[in-house]
Amino acid sequence: MGVPNASRRSVLLGLVLTGTVGGLIRPAEASAAAPPVKSPPIIGCGAWRARPPSTPVPVWDRRPVRIIVHHTATANVTDLSRGAAEFVARKIQEFHMDRRRWIDTGQNFTISRGGYVLEGRHRSLEVLRTGSRHVEGAHCTGQNVEAVGIENEGTYSSNAPPDQLWDRLRDMCAYICHQYGIPPTEIGGHRDFKDTLCPGDRFYGMLPQLRTEVADLLGEPLSDRAARRASWPLLRTDSSGPEVQAAQHLLRAAGLTVQPHGRFDERTTAAVRDYQRIHRTEEINGLIGGETWPLLVTARGTDRQEVALAVRALTPAGAVRASAIPGEEEWKRMLNAGRRS
Ligand SMILES: [Zn+2]
Repeated sequence: MGVPNASRRSVLLGLVLTGTVGGLIRPAEASAAAPPVKSPPIIGCGAWRARPPSTPVPVWDRRPVRIIVHHTATANVTDLSRGAAEFVARKIQEFHMDRRRWIDTGQNFTISRGGYVLEGRHRSLEVLRTGSRHVEGAHCTGQNVEAVGIENEGTYSSNAPPDQLWDRLRDMCAYICHQYGIPPTEIGGHRDFKDTLCPGDRFYGMLPQLRTEVADLLGEPLSDRAARRASWPLLRTDSSGPEVQAAQHLLRAAGLTVQPHGRFDERTTAAVRDYQRIHRTEEINGLIGGETWPLLVTARGTDRQEVALAVRALTPAGAVRASAIPGEEEWKRMLNAGRRS
């Protein structure tokens, strides 16, 4: 399952992050001028009749630094009642405990299609109220110590989330940001960190709007540019364009056999799977997302000429010198340069 390893990684990453990001975070108590941010109603584990966790949940004596948005990839049900929301919470817990063998529900909070917010993992609510501690979840390997995970009921690859869900997600994110001093720009999607379709193309495309609305609630409006922060594009079978060509050059740089024609064909999918196998990513699924991109752009022992061709594919004007190897943020910026608004 890879979870114990991931936890160790998270610990290391978390320590680094608290050291560097800590100073930039606005303390919750320093927001005297900001409008009051209220908690939406949240249904606790006891109220939805959760099973007790199989072992005590880990609670960290420090603040999380981001929020990760998920979709449950379940049916877009039309029953928007509280009963349906509690049923979903129980089903998820059952799946996580009995099938995945986790100690409890993986995410910290769940939002139903009817807009009910429920506590996911035990103690997440009590700890959120303190504004200083965090319950480690199991929703995004490598991020569980740093990030609050919110599962939104439904599948949002082509459908948008219903208004009730959206409004409660916005209110919930604003409350979490307020409690922990998390900047709204640190609201991300599961695919920002892993090779996954979650939270769906449509929902993921709405995250800039979510950041904007949350920032407005906090009384700290964001510029469009900040709301649309650079991200790793999720590439998959049938994707095409300069991003795919760049990825193909980077796969070649790592020694894989693939033609750099800019079409994500079957051969490319197979090469990505080989690459993921070599690098032991969590999923071997042929998707290039938030786990495989950072590996591709920072891999050791790469063929510099192929790396330069990858850069050239993204910057046809040749703005970057062939000898310069860009950093992660520069790659993200280049990969987002051609994105339509
Ligand atoms: Zn997810």
